Amino acid sequence: MIGAIILTTLALSVIIGLRYLMIAGLAYWLFWGGAGRRRRSVTLNRQPPRPETVRHEVIASLIATPIYALPAAAALEGWKHGYTKLYVDPAAYGWWWLPVSAIIYLLAHDAFYYWLHRGLHHKSVFAWAHRGHHISRDPSPFASFSFDPAEAALTAWFLPLLTLFIPIQVGVALGLLMLMTLTAVMNHAGREVWPSAWLSHPIGRQLITATHHDRHHKYFTQNYGLYFRFWDKAFKTDHV
Ligand SMILES: [Zn+2]
Ligand SMILES: [Zn+2]
Repeated sequence: MIGAIILTTLALSVIIGLRYLMIAGLAYWLFWGGAGRRRRSVTLNRQPPRPETVRHEVIASLIATPIYALPAAAALEGWKHGYTKLYVDPAAYGWWWLPVSAIIYLLAHDAFYYWLHRGLHHKSVFAWAHRGHHISRDPSPFASFSFDPAEAALTAWFLPLLTLFIPIQVGVALGLLMLMTLTAVMNHAGREVWPSAWLSHPIGRQLITATHHDRHHKYFTQNYGLYFRFWDKAFKTDHV
């Protein structure tokens, strides 16, 4: 089983790394390339992402990739041996469970990340576990995955571990991973793509977008959340 986990880790590293380069690269071209200059989006960055910052973001992301791949590979191999609650048949737990499980995973991930993120900003931890992500004061889409190895190791296990306890259909899990990638890329784009009417809508105001997360990169001690703003609001760290 150990050998299979290592092989799957290698395969997933290639898939995750290529997916990151393709999606972040496309977003970079859209937001900061020739197309970006013509787009009607609000610029959040004080200046375009600097080449040396983008280089750091890409290298840090590719170093973090196998760290994220390892627990995911362990979950996949565990699934083959019946250790996880991943399943294929969408009707196995009822159709209603598909959206409910997706919401539970998002809420759990959001709560986990809010509190871990606050811990990562503690002065005893920040320098070796989180400073790499904050090198990007004016982030680019490539910052969406640029985490120090310690931060990657602290966060990578959470979702694979959930699959041991909370049933999730494989297609829903893949959809969530894609949603997580897209929101991370958009939240680090350095531009706000959502119209202001959506940002001020009662639902839009509960969700984290680039406007919210960009402030975290610039001011550090506010806006720690991942998907939703209620943890930030409840603990008075929410600023827009
Ligand atoms: Zn960030
Ligand atoms: Zn931070």
